[in-house]
Amino acid sequence: MNELALRIAVMPGDGIGPEVMEAALLVLDAVQRRVGGFRLLLEPLEAGAAAYRRSGVALSEECFARAAAADAILFGAMGLPDVRLPDGREIAPQLDLRERLCLFAGVRPIRLLPGVPSALADPRAREIDLVILREQTEGLFAGRGRGLVTEERAEDRLVVTRPASERLFEFAFALARERKTRRGRARVDLVDKANVLGSMAFFRAIFLERAARYPEIEAGCRYVDATALDLVRRPWDLDVLVTENLMGDILSDLGAGLVGGMGFAPTADLGSGKGLFQPAHGSAPDIAGRGIANPTAMILSAAMMLEWLGRTRAVESCRIAAERIESAVERVYASGRIRPVELGGTSGTRAIAEAVAAELEAGPVDPLSPERRA
Ligand code: ATP
Repeated sequence: MNELALRIAVMPGDGIGPEVMEAALLVLDAVQRRVGGFRLLLEPLEAGAAAYRRSGVALSEECFARAAAADAILFGAMGLPDVRLPDGREIAPQLDLRERLCLFAGVRPIRLLPGVPSALADPRAREIDLVILREQTEGLFAGRGRGLVTEERAEDRLVVTRPASERLFEFAFALARERKTRRGRARVDLVDKANVLGSMAFFRAIFLERAARYPEIEAGCRYVDATALDLVRRPWDLDVLVTENLMGDILSDLGAGLVGGMGFAPTADLGSGKGLFQPAHGSAPDIAGRGIANPTAMILSAAMMLEWLGRTRAVESCRIAAERIESAVERVYASGRIRPVELGGTSGTRAIAEAVAAELEAGPVDPLSPERRA
């Protein structure tokens, strides 16, 4: 039997990272038993604050090389507030991986799952289905570790380059085109601060040049402050929001807050041929070790990984597996069977993973699946 083997670098990290990773691996195991045609070869890698504390290195060169050589990277969360570099910053291998693997597109879907209450009372909140597309190789994060800090003054640089902006906007319009095929409509809005910063006016000019090449996709520009307001006031009207690194970082937490909390926001960090998949949340040390973290964002990130592998490697069974996970997650929430602690319920990390896995096991068994062949 010819099965495609895919190497997955598994980087659980710190805090709740290992807890939500274990949950996602349980679900990946369940889906592989039902859908055949591919096999995930998991390669656990140690990196993060704990690794830094032990060895003085947060992301070793060997670990980086193995992650870079894998077909995809599944990532939990890294960093702890009390583990700091000599200059006071937290260790952040996820940022190093983004920069070194050139994972320029941070794809952050914000969607309200059936059965999950929104922070907004308006019934139109059920229609929230937008994507924040965050530039991840420059912007204000380009100043990371390279700023000027003296006794009297501190400076960080905001960098916007033409090539990075062009590839980001190409990605945004391709994403919108794909969403238009699926949902019948799509628009791309650039989110910036072009009224104040020259770098943002430059960013906007490049966006408008690119937008002119996609007359079939509606495009617009909006300021980041007004966008924060509209994300709360009418998020159902927003579709693809493309933005600078730090602005995307902030707006995506706001977006997560609209759809249940950090435990509901998956992400895909994509570059040319490379993909890293992780929940939008951090290591959440305030709840780590208690088994109460919501693993839904991690599970949905694993589904995004399968969807991306399916698309980029032309493996239909991976795409099917991604859809199965997404619809199993939707069904368990819609049925009211689980309510995460994050939403005031009692369902812990393991219970949520087991509910999703059980839902998958109650679903169809594909002809190529290991169970059918057994
Ligand atoms: P980072 O800067 O590394 O992204 P952060 O400091 O913004 O991290 P998070 O670790 O994302 O913070 O946590 C923010 C809040 O959200 C915390 O109160 C945390 O407990 C909560 N939180 C984060 N992830 C989850 C989760 N999966 N389930 C439940 N609560 C979560």
